[in-house]
Amino acid sequence: MTPPGSEDPLSPEALAERKMQFLFHLRSKGVTDSRVLTAMEKIDRGAFVRGIFAERAYEDMPLPIACGQTISQPSIVGLMTQALDVQPRHKVLEIGTGSGYQAAILSQLARRVYTIDRFRTLVREARKLFETLDLTNITTITADGSFGLPEQAPFDRIILTAAAEDPPSPLMRQLRVGGVMILPVGQSDTLQSLIRVTRHEDGYDYDELRTVRFVPLLEGLGNE
Ligand code: SAH
Repeated sequence: MTPPGSEDPLSPEALAERKMQFLFHLRSKGVTDSRVLTAMEKIDRGAFVRGIFAERAYEDMPLPIACGQTISQPSIVGLMTQALDVQPRHKVLEIGTGSGYQAAILSQLARRVYTIDRFRTLVREARKLFETLDLTNITTITADGSFGLPEQAPFDRIILTAAAEDPPSPLMRQLRVGGVMILPVGQSDTLQSLIRVTRHEDGYDYDELRTVRFVPLLEGLGNE
């Protein structure tokens, strides 16, 4: 019997067609930066989704992952990555590893990526995947990411993939002068604003980019 979610393997032509449509759709949603598109072409979202949802990995929707969390919608991953404007020498911090998909894309663009999640199960699974995919410039950490990673600060770029009520002040402090942080802000269960925080010598600038919907940034470690 065929286990649920497994299908006949697609032909190379069908795979290429699916990838082309995925990239075409990302472009139509405003992901136009060629480095971001190349990274998203290389990192197969199918590797980050398990079980019955795996066959929907190339659709532009969030999907359930372990620990009651979600892998974000690919067009939002693309737009957030584009807004982050990652350069090859950058050290990047991500809060909210989840499946590891966003971190894997960042790993193609940055020198080093640190990614933190409050669920040790998610961190363990993501770490295994990064090893399998030979993504050697990602460091995974289980912790409450609201406190950032002071021992590796300052960061050129910081991205949160869980919604905070306000930008956490430790993360603001750990952003390099000239650095950029992208995060959803707002109450959970309502539409949130995706904002960009830019640090200057004498303060911070805030831009609102669009509305989004993310799981909330929670305190402390998860129980799985
Ligand atoms: N970037 C992920 C999607 C993240 S879903 C991906 O590409 O798949 C949001 C994640 O944020 C969840 O895994 C959740 O456990 C995590 N999270 C929520 N609050 C957190 C906190 N305070 N510290 C670290 N991770 C947190």
